[in-house]
Amino acid sequence: MTYEAPVKDMMFNITHIAPNPGELEMAAAVLEEFGRFCAEEIALLNASGDREGSRCDQGLVHTPVGFREAYAKYLEMGWQGLSHPSEFGGQDLPRAVGAAAGEILNAANMSFALCPLLTDGAIEALRHFGSPQMKQTYLPKLVSGTWTGTMNLTEPQAGSDLALLRSRAEAQEDGTYRITGTKIYITYGEHDLAENIIHLVLARTPSAPKGIKGISLFLVPKFLVSADGTLGQRNAIRCQSIEHKLGVRASPTCVMEFEGATGFLIGTENAGLEYMFTMMNAARFAVGVQGVAVGERAYQQALAYAKTRLQGRPVDGSAEGAIAIIHHPDVRRMLAHMRATTEACRALAAFAAGWQDTPDVAMAEFLVPLVKGFCTEMSVQTASLGVQIHGGMGFIEETGAAQHYRDARILPIYEGTTAIQANDLLGRKTLRDGGATAGRIAAMIAQTEVALQQGSPTAQEISARLGSARRDFQAVVAHLLAASTNEAYAGAVPYLMLAGNLVAGWQMARAVLVAEAALARGEDRDFMSAKIATARFYAHHILTETGLQRSRVIDGAASLLDAVF
Ligand SMILES: Cc1cc2nc3c(=O)[nH]c(=O)nc-3n(C[C@H](O)[C@H](O)[C@H](O)COP(=O)(O)OP(=O)(O)OC[C@H]3O[C@@H](n4cnc5c(N)ncnc54)[C@H](O)[C@@H]3O)c2cc1C
Repeated sequence: MTYEAPVKDMMFNITHIAPNPGELEMAAAVLEEFGRFCAEEIALLNASGDREGSRCDQGLVHTPVGFREAYAKYLEMGWQGLSHPSEFGGQDLPRAVGAAAGEILNAANMSFALCPLLTDGAIEALRHFGSPQMKQTYLPKLVSGTWTGTMNLTEPQAGSDLALLRSRAEAQEDGTYRITGTKIYITYGEHDLAENIIHLVLARTPSAPKGIKGISLFLVPKFLVSADGTLGQRNAIRCQSIEHKLGVRASPTCVMEFEGATGFLIGTENAGLEYMFTMMNAARFAVGVQGVAVGERAYQQALAYAKTRLQGRPVDGSAEGAIAIIHHPDVRRMLAHMRATTEACRALAAFAAGWQDTPDVAMAEFLVPLVKGFCTEMSVQTASLGVQIHGGMGFIEETGAAQHYRDARILPIYEGTTAIQANDLLGRKTLRDGGATAGRIAAMIAQTEVALQQGSPTAQEISARLGSARRDFQAVVAHLLAASTNEAYAGAVPYLMLAGNLVAGWQMARAVLVAEAALARGEDRDFMSAKIATARFYAHHILTETGLQRSRVIDGAASLLDAVF
């Protein structure tokens, strides 16, 4: 099954949905070219990489056949630097364009894309908090992709709860630190794609306070880097083993031993978690985009299958023989659900990416858990529908539908589970500012409702659904602000799903305004009509779920807290 990058839809979002679109002259050409490259070079390795997996042999990790060559081409063409600063060799493209490129790479091959994704996170952390010398030494190599980055948070006893981490960092006389400890589940912690691996590692100094206030962030390179930038001695870091997994099997997930490795403090001691949040926000957003990606890939595959699989007669008796299953109402329901969810999540991600290029930090940060939590949860549903559309063939590995489902399943888990995203949305981003950012979003949505009321009957119908979902959101926010802590957190995940659904549905509604105006000018009839049809489906079939979420948050907390096990 081939993959075709949905560049037209991406450009629609980048141009009309993302606030502050920035300089877009080159964007479409870049995305077209990247889409071609990914389809030809990376997508073809998706199924074979999944079958073969990575291998660990005495501490050395070998990626599947073809990955090294594909990565070399990825570097040659400078793709890693797309939305990174030109100061370090990047191309400075807006975040929304970077997000679209991330979607393309992940749709082509999520296991492959994880390596660049983590490098992006390391770049983000170093850009913000690295010393000038660190930036000069490491950023150009990371931005070019010559070296890759990792994120070393998790330990056997410290997953969601980083307060429990134990890795030690002891200051040395020369200003470096000796890092000792075991990190688990480290994506691309060791591999054969790049010359060097730059680990960003959370650890504690001996005098550090307990809990999250005593965590520091260190840069620990696989090979130490000499003053002239050449690679020196191998650092005391070992990949002990790699995990056998449900999905993303081609990407190595490593158990890493730091055995007194030389590390360099980033920023100041005990401020590591704050720095890591910058990296995590970038990585969490990118994982949300992975959800869009796998949804799109699963949709393209299911659509192609539904057009060719002949089975059953039409319910209205309009044909004698078996018809392609796409004509059955229920298969249409599943395909439309996959498409609407994926387009809405793509629009949500573009919207969120656009805010990241503005100074409005509160808005940008509010949207990150929505992108991560909502888009990834929905991607599992979408990939599951993809399996369902294939019938028995969906359960058989050879079609690829099963792989998308297996790959999607990690997305609501890593980079903070959905519950952790929901706690973040509720605690740090809603309660802390007394609902101010949530209120600003509701006010902007109300403006869209008014604008839609001036449009076609379809636009008015969407306006009504959007208004109803917006009122569900406002009622839930008001309830959460007044609820006891236990009651509020009992509703955290339904609140996240409500907010994600609403903000994604809002972007589809905004798209209707753009599409109706374009149609009135006689522009791009097919694309714009399809956009309106998809938005209408979303409003009826998905946005309406906010009522259910509202009930779960407001009426359901007590029964949840009283549940018996
Ligand atoms: C394939 C893969 C790749 C990964 N890559 C990396 C990587 O590169 N770097 C890295 O550092 N880590 C990585 N991880 C680790 C990943 O981030 C963690 O698995 C994840 O954060 C969850 O932690 P945990 O597995 O310990 O689960 P736990 O924290 O034990 O969670 C178990 C369950 O309890 C729930 N729970 C826990 N705490 C709370 C709470 N406060 N409120 C509500 N519910 C809660 C969770 O939502 C979950 O349902 C990776 C994991 C996998 C599987």
